[in-house]
Amino acid sequence: MEVKIIGAGPAGLYFSLLGKKLNPNYNFSLYERGGRSENIRLGYTITESLREKLFSIGEDITTKIFSQATKPWTIQEHHSKGKIYDGKSTFRLYGIERSVLVNALREAASRKGVRIYYEQRIDEEKAYQFSRECDLLVGADGANSVVRNIYSQNFREHTITGTTAYIWLANRDNLKHMKTVIKDYYGHIFIGVSYPIRGNNNCLIVECKSASLDVLGLSAMVNSDQTISEEGIRFLHDLYTDGGSKFRIRSSNSRWRNSKYVRTDRLFHDNIALIGEAAQTLKFNTGSGLILAFETAEALAQSIREESSSLEQSLSQYASLVHQELNIKWLASEHLRNGAERVLTRYNELDGRSIVAILSGLM
Ligand SMILES: Cc1cc2nc3c(=O)[nH]c(=O)nc-3n(C[C@H](O)[C@H](O)[C@H](O)COP(=O)(O)OP(=O)(O)OC[C@H]3O[C@@H](n4cnc5c(N)ncnc54)[C@H](O)[C@@H]3O)c2cc1C
Repeated sequence: MEVKIIGAGPAGLYFSLLGKKLNPNYNFSLYERGGRSENIRLGYTITESLREKLFSIGEDITTKIFSQATKPWTIQEHHSKGKIYDGKSTFRLYGIERSVLVNALREAASRKGVRIYYEQRIDEEKAYQFSRECDLLVGADGANSVVRNIYSQNFREHTITGTTAYIWLANRDNLKHMKTVIKDYYGHIFIGVSYPIRGNNNCLIVECKSASLDVLGLSAMVNSDQTISEEGIRFLHDLYTDGGSKFRIRSSNSRWRNSKYVRTDRLFHDNIALIGEAAQTLKFNTGSGLILAFETAEALAQSIREESSSLEQSLSQYASLVHQELNIKWLASEHLRNGAERVLTRYNELDGRSIVAILSGLM
């Protein structure tokens, strides 16, 4: 079988690695718009269950990746209305730089015989052409998937545009666990979530009402390529730097983005399947974006195993394997999305403890 995959992010890479392991005779080719080595200094929180999944593609790869991850934490610290609340999560989280994860998976995939073509930005026309040339085309090209766009009606795509905007930044601070800090800037509320990803490097995700960006002039504090300008960084730095804090916020190709969530009712059409964020985008702080990427990739790799009869049956099996899990994750994400909007809109009416409960998805 000839399999072409658009996007060498976590979903596409995990799918190709597992696919090749289960079907050594298939040819897997990956097309990635970026260069060979990712250098974005942003990162993820990852769970123990994801670590287990990584072991299924090789102990050496997992050991290599986790040797560069942070120590695990279970504490989540919330700063709200002048008080600090310590919460404990039921599972351990690790922080990891995206480049560490992606580069290790790319190296492993190349070693296992997956062909990866870099600097190949695939447009809709090319993706359509690919679909005619190969047995299976996989859209693993993230939230703004061009593969999904070709047949958005057949995939029955729904898009929800939220009322909030967010930015993902690099930061330096000696954080040991996740910390959420809420700031009230003349009635405009900012939810900042930071977590360590490597040494003293950490990430800061700031979310606010989209309208606040215009009112406070933040939409104009951008460079010509729309990345945040020095002035925009300074605003956030002043907002988040309390006396004594060693926050050093930096842009890593960071842009303010309006929150947008996409899901599809169907995960395949003809000989095209969607995995990862191309199939469904979740609220970023659910911690389950990567799990969804790996779960969909795993289910597709298993469904196309050599002994399966027709491609249509394999793809139907793929859809039924992940259908329920995608629904559950979508509902959880919706709950957190509504929670953040509630806190940003009704901050003054809520007490600190309720805010923590809402943002943690408990209320
Ligand atoms: C602010 C923020 C914080 C997050 N934090 C976490 C977290 O802590 N934990 C977690 O589990 N998840 C987190 N997520 C979610 C996580 O980023 C995604 O779930 C995950 O990256 C999805 O992987 P993917 O491979 O499906 O897509 P992507 O990671 O988006 O990868 C898609 C790949 O396709 C390539 N590509 C795109 N278009 C084209 C094209 N036209 N041609 C060729 N190549 C293309 C891209 O360059 C990229 O390499 C966060 C998301 C955001 C926005």
